[in-house]
Amino acid sequence: MYEIRFHGRGGQGAVMAAQSLADAAVRSGFHAQAFPYFGAERRGAPVQAYARIDTKKVRTKSQVYNPDLLVIMDESLSELADIAAGLKPDGRVVMNTTKRPEEVDLGKGVDAVCGTVDASALALEVLKMPVVNTSMLGALARVWDVVPLESIVEAIEDRFGEKLGTRAGILNGEAARTAYDSTIIGRTLGRKEYGKLAEWAPAWNEIPIGNSLRSETRDGVAVGPASSSQNLTGRWKWSTPRYDREKCIRCLRCWWSCPDSAVIRLDDDYMRWDMDHCKGCGICADICPVNAIEMVQGAHTW
Ligand code: SF4
Ligand code: SF4
Repeated sequence: MYEIRFHGRGGQGAVMAAQSLADAAVRSGFHAQAFPYFGAERRGAPVQAYARIDTKKVRTKSQVYNPDLLVIMDESLSELADIAAGLKPDGRVVMNTTKRPEEVDLGKGVDAVCGTVDASALALEVLKMPVVNTSMLGALARVWDVVPLESIVEAIEDRFGEKLGTRAGILNGEAARTAYDSTIIGRTLGRKEYGKLAEWAPAWNEIPIGNSLRSETRDGVAVGPASSSQNLTGRWKWSTPRYDREKCIRCLRCWWSCPDSAVIRLDDDYMRWDMDHCKGCGICADICPVNAIEMVQGAHTW
């Protein structure tokens, strides 16, 4: 049985990727399953999805702890946690990054066959949006030849076509083919030491007096009351709000609707943005009645 673990961020389409891979495997004569594991239900938060593929019926229902293949859809996730935990000795990796495989370090001893692809740039070029799931599936086919690219493209065209329309299905298939051709194959570096992983929440005697509660989850997210300022959610963003002060009528809607309190109200009721914590969800731009906020592609700090 082959086990695949997808690591992504909410909004990148990790779940659709796992489902499409399972669908492609079935088209190639395998049995397969796919399911997600969500942490915080937020755009940009770390998520995992799993797929299992076998020549016989798949009965295991657990999360994937010892993957044959690791799909890392956002490079920053590899800085936060021991992402390659449990990877089988002959396991493979595919990663969305501008780096070459020999520059990818997933922790001490992880010397794995690795395919790297700049899936974010490719998705922007082909799909005009930073949704990398189909590009990652194309790269996956290059790194790991169990499920052929043609079956993956067929599954993508059908699934995405049904959900988003025929044209979107074809474009996503094209993203997969382009990623397949662009993927660089090599081996990971295997030198980095990760710190000890903390439990979900601190014990009472671990909380410093006078400090906010703080802990690290396996995904490196601080939890506990008043911990939100410790999570630099601004690193998650793919698009950035641009504020036009001249258009602003100071209605305050953006200020109270931002889920990360990243819109800061000034004394005169104009706004400024905390880019360390703005995750680029676009809610402020959607809610602004006079289009004083425009979402611009990319992570900017203006
Ligand atoms: S895009 Fe707007 S609503 Fe979303 S996090 Fe940034 S400031 Fe807040
Ligand atoms: S929602 Fe628009 S108009 Fe209202 S305060 Fe924010 S930027 Fe200004």
